[in-house]
Amino acid sequence: MIRRIKGVKDILPDDIPKWDVIETAARRLATIYGFREIRIPIFEQTDLFARSIGTTTDIVEKEMYTFQDLDKTSLTLRPEGTAGAVRAYIENNLGSVPSAQKMFYLGPMFRHESPQAGRQRQFHQLGVEFFGNPHVGADVEVMAFLWHFFADLKLRDLTLEVNSLGEPADRSRYRALLVKFLEARGDCLCVNCRGRLERNPFRILDCKEAGCRDATRDAPMMTDHLSERARTQFEDVRSGLSALGIPYTVNPRLVRGLDYYTLTAFEVTSLSPHLGAQNALGGGGRYDGLVEGLGGPSTPAVGFAAGLERIALVLPPEALTPQPKMVFVAAFGKDGEAAGTRVLQALRARGVSSETLYGASTLKAHLRQADRRGALLTAIIGDDEAAEGVVLLRDMTTKAQEKLPLSSAPDMIAARVFSA
Ligand code: AMP
Repeated sequence: MIRRIKGVKDILPDDIPKWDVIETAARRLATIYGFREIRIPIFEQTDLFARSIGTTTDIVEKEMYTFQDLDKTSLTLRPEGTAGAVRAYIENNLGSVPSAQKMFYLGPMFRHESPQAGRQRQFHQLGVEFFGNPHVGADVEVMAFLWHFFADLKLRDLTLEVNSLGEPADRSRYRALLVKFLEARGDCLCVNCRGRLERNPFRILDCKEAGCRDATRDAPMMTDHLSERARTQFEDVRSGLSALGIPYTVNPRLVRGLDYYTLTAFEVTSLSPHLGAQNALGGGGRYDGLVEGLGGPSTPAVGFAAGLERIALVLPPEALTPQPKMVFVAAFGKDGEAAGTRVLQALRARGVSSETLYGASTLKAHLRQADRRGALLTAIIGDDEAAEGVVLLRDMTTKAQEKLPLSSAPDMIAARVFSA
């Protein structure tokens, strides 16, 4: 038998109510905050990701699903959504469309990571991008959206961590300082981080290895080396959050894994035991240089991405919406089945969720199936009922039965279901 690919999961019918709640909340809030949906391709030219995410990042170095198209173009399954959103923004000249400055997307992403709880090779994200506005109001707005989204889903024990990664000039000055500091402690770093020293020293700050933690304990922090403008911007972001009553902590080690961030960076983590090490539910930041870096006009931007699998893992039962009440039609005998089919269709036409078991010839078989499906009511129609022009309506909880005229049964049953 052919099995699914490692790190990839089926989302089964029983899981779907969770996903529905999450996606519905995402769409509802997007409308409330004025973000419109964009659907971008699942694969793009490899260069798009290499140039935006950064050639020395973990994602581009080791996690991309890259393959050659028949014409030898190198293509990659998208590991995240911002690069594609920016490409679409530039290519479709969306900078000139006022209603297209705030966009969101929902969909699968692909990264070749080692699978564990909350970490998969195909996973789904809600992504939000706010283009064209350098004001901290935009930073605060996307963070407020993310916080509001999690609050709507009744998620608990969350922390919003914020940091400033400075402007590009601050970063290169700081990078030199950090590398100098870490080079003196190179022996204490894990193998992975020794490799990062040259290529991506910032990531060493959020390495979880004990040796790297120790080595970076007194490391210079970006927040102490910000330009005046970046420092003010960071203060304004924090006061904007406080003004909205959104609690946060400053985490100077928060660097995020993608190169394109400037100034604001943020992440929401959860303390839930269902997540273990993979405790980040979502994160993002400002990426003022990316649109221009990919060949578009100079355009400030800020956004976030949240992982839907991780949200599903921590979603409390009280966030689930009750499933619609269901009616079972138990029809048997030649005339009974014909009448039952009409009742079933009439119920569905009235918006009532209804089911039957085709071919079951005994009442017992029908009732067993009705129980399994959690039916609220069962409409019983055998040949005798069809001849008499009635339906026997059984309340599946009390087991009480009553006779209804066949002609008015669908309306009466629908009224009963909608008032239940
Ligand atoms: P990133 O695009 O790396 O900033 O990730 C944003 C969010 O996507 C994270 O906070 C996670 O919730 C989720 N995420 C990232 N990578 C994975 C993965 N491999 N499996 C499941 N969720 C992920």
